[in-house]
Amino acid sequence: DIRVRFAPSPTGPFHIGGARSALFNWLLAKRYNGKFIMRIEDTDLERSTKESEENIKEALQWLGITWDEGTDVGGPYGPYRQTERLDTYRIYTEQLLNEGKAYYCYCSEAELDEERQLQSEKGETPHYGGKCLHLTPEEKADLVAQGRKPTVRFHVQENKQIIFKDMVRDTVTFDSNGVGDFVIVKSDGIPVYNYAVVIDDALMKITHVIRGEEHLSNTPRQIVLYEALGLTPPTFGHISLILGSDRTKMSKRHGATSVEKYRNLGYLPEAIVNFLALLGWSPGGEKEFFSLEELIEEFSMERVAKNPAVFDVDKLNYISAQYIKKASPEEVTELALPHLREAGYIGEELSAENREWLTQVVALLQEYISYAAEIVNHIDLFFTENIEFENEEAAEVLRDEDVPGVIKSFCEKLQGLEVVDAPSVKALLKSITKELKLGGKKVFMPLRVVVTGKMHGPDLDKIIALIGREKVLNRITSTLA
Ligand code: GLU
Repeated sequence: DIRVRFAPSPTGPFHIGGARSALFNWLLAKRYNGKFIMRIEDTDLERSTKESEENIKEALQWLGITWDEGTDVGGPYGPYRQTERLDTYRIYTEQLLNEGKAYYCYCSEAELDEERQLQSEKGETPHYGGKCLHLTPEEKADLVAQGRKPTVRFHVQENKQIIFKDMVRDTVTFDSNGVGDFVIVKSDGIPVYNYAVVIDDALMKITHVIRGEEHLSNTPRQIVLYEALGLTPPTFGHISLILGSDRTKMSKRHGATSVEKYRNLGYLPEAIVNFLALLGWSPGGEKEFFSLEELIEEFSMERVAKNPAVFDVDKLNYISAQYIKKASPEEVTELALPHLREAGYIGEELSAENREWLTQVVALLQEYISYAAEIVNHIDLFFTENIEFENEEAAEVLRDEDVPGVIKSFCEKLQGLEVVDAPSVKALLKSITKELKLGGKKVFMPLRVVVTGKMHGPDLDKIIALIGREKVLNRITSTLA
C-alpha cells in the first residue's frame, strides 16, 4: 500500500514549492487509495516555531490537503513530531556506533573551518578528512577531558557508487567520495535532518518520497544510511525547481512566494491547487482546468517533467480568473472585504443592507478580476462623486452632437422613474433610442462615459441601478459642468 508523507520544517512561511510537494504526494496517495502522513521536522530548534507549524497546517487545510496520520490526528507510527522521537533516534545511533559505522567526532567548529579552508585553497571540494575516525583511546580520553562535546559522524565508505532510481530523473548516480563522513547527531544530541528523515520514513513505512530537487544531493547520504541501518529506502521522486519568469530560482523578487500571501490576496484555494498541479505535472491533453477530484483521477508521476517549472504569475491569474468568475458573489465579497477596508471604501462595520449592495456590485465586477483584492481597482465608479475619463477617446464621445439630447432625455426619464432597478433602467434606455431614433451605441456610450468615465464595463442598467438615482444625476451634472 502506498504511504507518502509531507514533512515540513516549520521554520518560516509556507512556500509555494512546499505546497506543490505536499500536493503531489497527496495526489499520489489519493489516486492509489494510500495514506498521506504529515510529519513535523522540527530538529532545527532555533528556527522552528509553533506559529510556522500552525501556519503550514492551516494552509494545507485551506488547499484541501488533509492527512490520515500526523501530529494532531495521531496514527499507528507516531509520534509524528521529530523532537518527540529523540529516544528512537538514540537507539539507532547506538547501533551505528557499536557496529563501527559511525564515530564520535571532537573537532571544533574552528578546526573544521580551517580544514575546509585548506581544502578550498588546494582546489578540493571541502569534506571531512576523517580525523576523529582514527583517534587512539588516549587521544580520545584527552579530548573528553578537555570537555569537548562530540558530534556523531557517519562513516561513508570510499570509492563507491551510490545509485538509485528516481521517479522523475530515472537512474541517478553519486560518487561516495564526494559525500565524506557527515554529522548525523549534533553535539547537543539532536539528530540532523538527513539522519532523522531516514529513520522516520523507514519506521513510518513510507513507500514513496516526492520532494523538491533541492533535496537531490541529500539523497545519497540518506541511501547510505538506509544501507547501514539495514532499512529499505522508499522510492524517490525529485521534482524540478520552481523558477521565476526570468528563469532564475523563484524568490521574493518574483512576487509572493508564500501560500499565505496568495490566500490573503483573495485567490481561491481551488485555483491555487489547479495552478500548483501544473507546476511540473502536465495532463495528456489540452485541458487546463482541474478540480481536486479530476487531479486525483488524472495525476501520475510519469507525467511529471524533469525540466524546471516556471512560476508564471500571468498564468496563475488567468486560471484564477476563471475560478473567481464562477465563485458566488458572496464568497468573493467576503474575500474582498479586507482590501476594500484598507482602500477606505468601507469601514469596519458593514450593515446588512450595505453588504447586500456590495455583493451586487461584486457580482458585476467579478468577471474583470483574477483575485478578490483586485476589486479595489474597479470599484471606484460605485463610490466616487467625480468620475474621471479613462482616456481622451472617452472624453471625445461626449462631444458628439446628439449627446446633449440623449443626456437631457435620460435625466428627465430617470427622475420620473417610480422604482430605479436594472429592468426599469433598461427599459428607459431602450425608450430613448426609440424616441430619439438613435442606434443603441449612440445612447449607451455617452451615458456610460458620463456615469463611469469608461467606455467598457458591466451592464449599464445594472451600474445605474446600483449607484442610484440621486448619485447618478449629481454625477452627470458635475461631469458636464
Ligand atoms: N523537512 C524537509 C524540508 O522541509 C523535508 C524534506 C523531505 O521531504 O525529505 O525540506
